[in-house]
Amino acid sequence: MAGKKAVVIFGATGDLAQKMLYPSLYFLDAEGHLPEGLTVTGFARTDIGEADFIAHTHAAVVERAGKAFTEEAWKKFSARLHYCKGDLDSEKDFRALAKTLDGADDCLYYLSTSPNFFGKIARNLKATGLAHPGARVAVEKPIGHDLASCRRIEEDLSEAFSEDRIFRVDHYLGKETVQNLIALRFANAFFEPLWNKESIEHVQITVAETIGVERRWSYYDSYGALRDVVQNHLLQLLCLVAMEPPASLDPDVVRDEKVKVLHSLRRIGSDEVERETVRGQYRKGFSDEGTVPGYCEETGGAASETETFVAVAAHIDNWRWAGVPFYLRTGKRMPIRSTEIVVQFRQVPHSIFPHHDLIANRLTIRLQPEEEISLQLMNKTPSLDRGGMRLKPLSLDLSLSDAFKRQRRRIAYERLFLEALEGNRILFVRRDEVEAAWKWIDAIIGGWKERDMKPLPYTAGTWGPSSAFALTERNGHSWYE
Ligand code: NAD
Repeated sequence: MAGKKAVVIFGATGDLAQKMLYPSLYFLDAEGHLPEGLTVTGFARTDIGEADFIAHTHAAVVERAGKAFTEEAWKKFSARLHYCKGDLDSEKDFRALAKTLDGADDCLYYLSTSPNFFGKIARNLKATGLAHPGARVAVEKPIGHDLASCRRIEEDLSEAFSEDRIFRVDHYLGKETVQNLIALRFANAFFEPLWNKESIEHVQITVAETIGVERRWSYYDSYGALRDVVQNHLLQLLCLVAMEPPASLDPDVVRDEKVKVLHSLRRIGSDEVERETVRGQYRKGFSDEGTVPGYCEETGGAASETETFVAVAAHIDNWRWAGVPFYLRTGKRMPIRSTEIVVQFRQVPHSIFPHHDLIANRLTIRLQPEEEISLQLMNKTPSLDRGGMRLKPLSLDLSLSDAFKRQRRRIAYERLFLEALEGNRILFVRRDEVEAAWKWIDAIIGGWKERDMKPLPYTAGTWGPSSAFALTERNGHSWYE
């Protein structure tokens, strides 16, 4: 049947699919964004029937949607749902999937599985005729474990799909504030002339989580913080902060600029890792839940040399950023949950306020827990000022949740689904971007191995090992917390 549309979610009973993907599709449907007749088929090995799968998904959507849930919208959405129990290794099960899809010729396959399956899924889709010209594939990060495994997966994907049909997801790119970075930089005249080494002293990008690894231990232990967060989210944010102004918002024009940043990142190898990076692993400590176990105790005391914290002093060797450190930091079991970019401007060249230590301007772009932008400025305090003008740093705050109060805060995946369904690639990562990111990460991992650099312990509920502070302090900078 011509023009029949379908979404297939591989790994449909998994954590990501249930917590994020199905609720996102539900919201899109509730707001009228899903095309008439589009079906949503879940594929997983969980041995349940379709009715039980739909009941399970109902519970997940109710939980995620909270007050925004309505039975009426669910009724419409659930009519689209199907479930196909199958094994990702089995071509036969893909044939059964093809039957369920009933000739749909405009399909989006969302691979919400371990990256070990990406190649197999692509091969089975091709072998069963499902990788037809009207098909697109969306793949979750991380793509591989290093550059070599990433390339193997990419080869398999490209055997079945052309580059314009592959949508590599980094859900940070679906976040409102991340897109707002582009608006902030290129829709306001006053930032861009200052956006360089003359005016900016350094940049900090932090992704801090209060949770530990818990249920995801076995996945996480083979990845660690550098591969799990720096390789994708942190480098994507760095690219958006550091890229040159693109000539247009054309997906390839923007992605060309991001790749140039990745190519300009100074290599950190065995001679530099001890100076430019810090690895940490949490030990028993405290969180909002009270006393929490150390990383190795979470699975009953397995030995592990995987880092749960990493800090890197990155340098971008180009004309705009020469000499400006970009400090990247991510960790689990940090004191607060926070994702933010801090752009630290330089001090004024000459102070006419002899009795004051002027505090240099600072732009903070916060993604989590709230989406906010604030600019710290020096201000005169209202007073008669006998004996000299009094100054105080104050912030100009833009709270996106206050500014757009009546708008629901969207799940990043809603926008990503919509863009992928419409074939718009701007929010997705291109193959050369992923490979350039892995190349930089591989050098660090190789350096750690050569130097036998093991993670340093830090107490859960703190900001990582003390050497993370030394990383910035030796340049006269400090982390903002
Ligand atoms: P998960 O382990 O919770 O779910 C895996 C899913 O794959 C399940 O539905 C399972 O039934 C299915 N599956 C596994 N082996 C199968 C097989 N042989 N045949 C058929 N189905 C099989 O994993 P997850 O946490 O949902 O993560 C999925 C992907 O998304 C991973 O690549 C992960 O790195 C990525 N990711 C997850 C999160 C998250 O919050 N969970 C966030 C970002 C990215």
